[in-house]
Amino acid sequence: MTREEAIAVALASPNREVCGLVICDEWVQITNLAKGNDVFIMDMGEVVEAMVARGNRLDGLWHSHPDGDPDPSPADEHHHPAGKMMYIITLPDGEVHEYA
Ligand SMILES: [Zn+2]
Repeated sequence: MTREEAIAVALASPNREVCGLVICDEWVQITNLAKGNDVFIMDMGEVVEAMVARGNRLDGLWHSHPDGDPDPSPADEHHHPAGKMMYIITLPDGEVHEYA
């Protein structure tokens, strides 16, 4: 999907974080397996499937912050792969905050 479609997905989930990957400029939603609503854990099977199906070039990861906080949480920073973009979509404005 496009970046705009990912924003729409985030806005449609005001009580739970949504997450995904950006692979070769395509935004892909990955199921959030986390039990809590303010955290995300990507389904690894879907991650691998998406990477293999789309050319294997990971540009970055995206997820939403329904509480509107534009900053990465300590967990976001701890688990983020080095050298990849981090996109945080805040609610309710649908703004995308980019961290290199
Ligand atoms: Zn976060």
